[in-house]
Amino acid sequence: MYNMMDSIDKSDAEIYELIKKEGARIRNGIELIPSENFTSKAVLQAYATLCTNKYSEGYPGKRYYGGNQFIDLIESLAIERAKKLFGAEHVNVQPYSGSPANQAVFFALLNLHDTFMGFDLSAGGHLTHGSPVNFSGRNYNCVPYTVDKETELLDYEQIEKQAEKIKPKMILSGLTAYPRKIDFKAFKEICDSVNAYHFADIAHIAGLCATGLHQNPVPYCDVVTTTTHKTLRGPRGGIIMCKTEDKLDKNGKKNLAEKIDAAVFPGLQGGPHDHVNAAKAVAFKEALQPEYKQYCSQIVKNAKALADSLMSQGLDLVTGGTDNHLMVIKLVNKGLIGRGKEIQNALGEAEIYVNKNTIPYEPNTPFNPSGIRLGTPAVTTRGFKESEMEVIGKLIAKVIDNYQDKGVIEKVRNEVLELCKHFPLYPGLDILR
Ligand SMILES: *Cc1c(COP(=O)(O)O)cnc(C)c1O
Repeated sequence: MYNMMDSIDKSDAEIYELIKKEGARIRNGIELIPSENFTSKAVLQAYATLCTNKYSEGYPGKRYYGGNQFIDLIESLAIERAKKLFGAEHVNVQPYSGSPANQAVFFALLNLHDTFMGFDLSAGGHLTHGSPVNFSGRNYNCVPYTVDKETELLDYEQIEKQAEKIKPKMILSGLTAYPRKIDFKAFKEICDSVNAYHFADIAHIAGLCATGLHQNPVPYCDVVTTTTHKTLRGPRGGIIMCKTEDKLDKNGKKNLAEKIDAAVFPGLQGGPHDHVNAAKAVAFKEALQPEYKQYCSQIVKNAKALADSLMSQGLDLVTGGTDNHLMVIKLVNKGLIGRGKEIQNALGEAEIYVNKNTIPYEPNTPFNPSGIRLGTPAVTTRGFKESEMEVIGKLIAKVIDNYQDKGVIEKVRNEVLELCKHFPLYPGLDILR
């Protein structure tokens, strides 16, 4: 028998070295990209197993291949735990990631070119919420809603008026770069008044919804999707939660849960990734523990502390702050319109990882936008608290104010390295595992 963990350094030295370098990068840097996180060792271990070898097209108890007696139990555990975590009636854990999960929902609920409303990408929505370059905007007729120009907040009266006029078959709520709470109940009322499906995508805020720190959309939605690798802190993947009853097709041949399952398989996917589903099950179990709620509550506290620190350094934030795990710096008042990319790169040289982002009513282009998006799920996993957030806010402001000054960037980088030394990441774990 070969030793699975030792063999890669001998069989593929190139990839081995690069994975080691990626390990050093995350250990030495401050990870503020709000969609990223660090899974537990248990999740990593479940992920890197021989379950990757199995074919199991179908669902537990109804597979197209033999030998699935244990895979059935793994998938069923993942489903039961997700149901408990969100109070969902039905869960499909097979989507390969967030985007395929959303694609399956569109496939199940809409016909080609049907009209829906989704959150404008530049104001905080996701590509899969109707962007013209994405399947959601190309195959379906998206009429985007956006935030109020003054407050930069969602304006539910405005959205309701728009829905009355547009008569969409579905309204998609959810966020990628919106730093405030979403009123899913208000979205449900709008959907009910125009007889539309309500579909929420909680990829970013799933952990906050599961632990009661943000309203849980599940009771107010026909369908909810989430990724499993953002605040949920599991492996890369997606899940779909839904009601059984299809409110727009009560006497249809299939109920809503059956439509969703059929859209995932055989509609869009073949065999599920059973190793990922095992890791999802482990992550859901972790998320059901009391420590996970403490973790999520620290994410929100850290985000507030980081936002306060940035604002006290004279930086402007979209909506003037945050209620969740993320915030968007507006570079406009610093005279840095369209400089998001340069700032992202300067911060990256200082080993502070963020991403450039558009701001509402973006004055420049999506490739050279005027915002920087950052969030606290990963640094909170690492053990950072409010006092570290205050320091990091100051370091970020220093780089933004001196983004072309290599000397300043080098000094900040040294402070970052020093800070990170006190918070070892994956201690004792060979980074390859
Ligand atoms: C990240 C994200 C997705 C997509 O997830 P992938 O796993 O990258 O495909 C979908 N919706 C929202 C709101 C997201 O933030």
